[in-house]
Amino acid sequence: MRTQLLVATMFLAIASMAQTADPQKPAVQQVAKSKEDLAKMKPEMTEFWDPEVAIVTPGQLPSDAPSDAIVLFDGTQESFNANWTNAKGEPSNWTVANHCVTVVKGGGIIRSKIELEDFQLHVEWRTPAEVIGESQGRGNSGIFLQARYELQVLDNYQNRTYRNGQAGSIYKQYAPLVNACKKPGEWQTYDVIYTAPRFKADGTVFSPARVTVLQNGVLVQNNISLFGHTEYIGIPKYAAHGAAPLELQDHGNPVSYGNIWVRKL
Ligand code: MG
Repeated sequence: MRTQLLVATMFLAIASMAQTADPQKPAVQQVAKSKEDLAKMKPEMTEFWDPEVAIVTPGQLPSDAPSDAIVLFDGTQESFNANWTNAKGEPSNWTVANHCVTVVKGGGIIRSKIELEDFQLHVEWRTPAEVIGESQGRGNSGIFLQARYELQVLDNYQNRTYRNGQAGSIYKQYAPLVNACKKPGEWQTYDVIYTAPRFKADGTVFSPARVTVLQNGVLVQNNISLFGHTEYIGIPKYAAHGAAPLELQDHGNPVSYGNIWVRKL
């Protein structure tokens, strides 16, 4: 971000030197009024070295947490207790076993202790191998971004439901671009790029939340603008908020979650 600001500042400075600023032309062209001026430019005049780009060491696999990620669940009870509570802020009774945590019907949502604004999120999830129910009743859970905006988790492998409520949807707002579901019982991934909404002092929206989602490496949401927080009945609308946690939904089905990590942006 700093480098982008630096570049933008530099070009603005060049543009301000131009006697007649033409927004249709790149700033360099405005300063260099002739081919001769352009010819005097050297490559290093548009090369920026500082500040050096921060180094992040990637995981062995793209799904592994990179060095600057905050690991919210690594398959252990210790990690679960350290990072998640139930809706009351108490330890959750969801079951941790076999390197994953599974929804316990009636246990309610789980909520991350960390509160987030903009982030990159990786979540591994699995719907039950034993197929029970249909439509919204099969392997339903969900990831509530900033505790408000649901990225649907559902078993939609050969299971039709309303398109804006299936896996990869932002529930009741945006259907996924494609159905990239694996078979029930197989591990799946979501990789999410989330930009929090911004609000004016009077509480109205300055800029909406934006979301990009890849499911199993397939793009299913492409930088969409949300209409507000998720509503089961009614029209989504915004209520001003700041940093907020993640929540995973208890919809009564034993959906499991594996590795979860996040990078603050
Ligand atoms: Mg759901």
